[in-house]
Amino acid sequence: MGIDAGFDMVPHLSKGAVDQKNWQSFIKVIKERYKNDNLVEVKPNYLMFTVGERPLLPFEGHKFLRFSSKISGSHGKAVEQYIDEVALVARLSFGSRVRRWNEYGDSQAFYSWPEVSDSIESYEQPDEPETPSTIAQFVSGNDPIRELELPLFEIQTIPGKGKGLVARFNIAKGTRILYENPLFTTPNLSPISQMESNIATKLKALSKTQQRQFLSLHNNFPGKYPFSGIVKTNALPCGPSSVIGGIYPTICFINHSCLSNAHNSWNSDIKCETIHAIRYINAGEEITISYDKGGPSDPRRMHLKDAFGFDCNCGVCSLSLPELQTSDARRLRIQHLDDAIGDSDRVMNRPDESLTDCHSLLQLLEEEYRSDADASIARLYYDAFQISITHGDQARASVFAGRAYKSRVICEGEDSPETRKVKNLMDNPAGHRNFGASMRWKTTKGLVPKGLDAGGFERWLWRQGR
Ligand SMILES: [Zn+2]
Repeated sequence: MGIDAGFDMVPHLSKGAVDQKNWQSFIKVIKERYKNDNLVEVKPNYLMFTVGERPLLPFEGHKFLRFSSKISGSHGKAVEQYIDEVALVARLSFGSRVRRWNEYGDSQAFYSWPEVSDSIESYEQPDEPETPSTIAQFVSGNDPIRELELPLFEIQTIPGKGKGLVARFNIAKGTRILYENPLFTTPNLSPISQMESNIATKLKALSKTQQRQFLSLHNNFPGKYPFSGIVKTNALPCGPSSVIGGIYPTICFINHSCLSNAHNSWNSDIKCETIHAIRYINAGEEITISYDKGGPSDPRRMHLKDAFGFDCNCGVCSLSLPELQTSDARRLRIQHLDDAIGDSDRVMNRPDESLTDCHSLLQLLEEEYRSDADASIARLYYDAFQISITHGDQARASVFAGRAYKSRVICEGEDSPETRKVKNLMDNPAGHRNFGASMRWKTTKGLVPKGLDAGGFERWLWRQGR
């Protein structure tokens, strides 16, 4: 009697340097934890737990699929305890890749027993040492530098979503997860027959592999114009307001979330779409970007259904009703403030109101998106910069440009043209074309106050209490 319980590593670890390093430190922590009792024996190729069904932790992490035992008999309590502890330590290194399960719980084991048994047999036979160049590559392309990089993600089938990208490692905020040249770019042409033949011409110029990559993408508009359907479903605009869209062999597999953990942007200098982590991403977590422009859940979800053909069940869309109502109210207010800040007459004639709106918008964005590095925050700081510099306030303008720069670096990297633009303005705010349209708030760059506490500095920055 008793039940089987434990955890599986999904996806299993690679032979890559990061996975191996994380596994070695995990093994070290486990050794350390149990060094003073007889629960764990150190064997040449693995650690063995000596009670229960004697589960093993191999020294070669890529072979590991499962740690489990039957919880029964006089040792039941001890077995249960070490499974909990080992799983907890594993979670710290491998995040949601560690999948807990037990025989009677709602969480199922991932691997079959024959797979697990094969993996355990392989523990005894250490692998021949391998060179990094034999590591499987997931990113296609002919850039020799990229061929040597270890991809941070894996393309996997995601239940209910088709394919998607899953983090293979814990990924820090601001990391460039990948960048990719488009297979081709195309404008959104009308009539659609024209667009179809335009795409057909571009497809002919591609290699067979690239054609297959294109045809494997999802089409939300099947029918008479299949190529256009694939483009309409998958193209990412080459720039925020560009009518040109790009199609990417890997990036087009990245799924949507209304609270995404990554940001996509077109870098016109390197002619690539880049994907950056805008939050900390755990190994095993799906990498997501945002396909829409926000707004409350009803129109947002309707748009996602019409344009891309899916019902969004992301963390935001599946909030409880009262929480969703709070989120909707915030997103509606965000839209209104965004529109109000864009009113150039108001920026000219009532700049204090515009700046106050920027501050309110910042607070709402931080609450709703729980991040200080969303692209909308970079945009907001740039708006605040423009308001200040239009009225000759170089001191505040340089601070706002500095904050816009910080957010841009995280979302797009140092080499993005937009990042470089705000960096230049941080150093030389008066270089902006609107500088001196009015001198109502005139300051020089040197007038940024020193010695204020954080609250005092924010009050100065946003011109509060004047
Ligand atoms: Zn959603």
